[in-house]
Amino acid sequence: MDHTTAGNHKKQIYTPKKSWLGISDWIVDKIGVRPATWKPVLKVFKLIVAGSKYMNTPLFGPIYKRLMMFDPEEKRYSHGTIFNLNVDLSEQGESVVVPMDLVKDMLSKASFIASSNACICRDANNCSDYPKEVCCLFLSKSGKTVVEHRVGYEISLEDALARVDKAAELGLVGQALWVEVEQFIWGFSNQTMEHFVEMCFCCPCCCVAFNISKNASRDVKKRFRPSGWTSQVDGELCQGCENCIEPCPQVAITLSADSKAVINQDYCVGCGICKTHCEYDAIRVTQTRPMLGSVQEYFFEDGALALKI
Ligand code: SF4
Ligand code: SF4
Ligand code: SF4
Repeated sequence: MDHTTAGNHKKQIYTPKKSWLGISDWIVDKIGVRPATWKPVLKVFKLIVAGSKYMNTPLFGPIYKRLMMFDPEEKRYSHGTIFNLNVDLSEQGESVVVPMDLVKDMLSKASFIASSNACICRDANNCSDYPKEVCCLFLSKSGKTVVEHRVGYEISLEDALARVDKAAELGLVGQALWVEVEQFIWGFSNQTMEHFVEMCFCCPCCCVAFNISKNASRDVKKRFRPSGWTSQVDGELCQGCENCIEPCPQVAITLSADSKAVINQDYCVGCGICKTHCEYDAIRVTQTRPMLGSVQEYFFEDGALALKI
């Protein structure tokens, strides 16, 4: 399917904001992350997460959203889809397409694949629970850009596909992200952001996107969406321990009057983080909506972004 005409959306290519032209490209050229600026950027990452705790305050909230390019008026921009790599197939047919299939399909279509040198979120937090080497992958032109800036290196398709399997084994969550402010991090010029294609393998502890989402106002939270899979609780198995509630990046879980976890299906993005925190095996990530045909179609449907892979 031609992703530029997916669904009822008209073809709409990313158009850089005029007010940012010049200024943002200057910052990208002069300051954007390079090996020499990697450490200061890690500190900025931590500040971004710390700042997100105030996103709901009347004075600082709007400023933060502007800085992070999460302006509610800019509905086309900065969003992501969750491609959980560990879904439950017990209730599904044998030939079902799973999120991992779409991730691998996207990688197979790329003309060039690069891995970032390390997971910038785990590096910033000195993560000891998950490896830094299984991290963001950038495709085609975006891959070449991170390699040129020496913050990434080329990998083969075979290696990329093996990393998807490794991420699943490690319990990392796949996220396809298009976050406009990342042009400053990875060094894309404003005009080339339509080529920005990033497939991340994220941990529940350090991921900036998950942590911002956790603190965010609902208008920002809803920029992350499920790929068609969400989590449900088996009330018979749930012991009401509450371990799943705090880690949920969407703040989608509450405890019912009879002490059973309840997941709000309007908010759940199917990341499966709650499942990994449940010692009683009471949570399943199952398909609740049909999946689209490709990762690009999610970008197109959500933000009308015809990204170029
Ligand atoms: S978005 Fe995910 S893979 Fe990318 S740097 Fe952050 S945690 Fe690592
Ligand atoms: S309820 Fe579970 S699967 Fe849904 S968003 Fe929260 S942690 Fe992720
Ligand atoms: S972690 Fe599991 S047992 Fe505990 S409240 Fe959540 S679903 Fe129930």
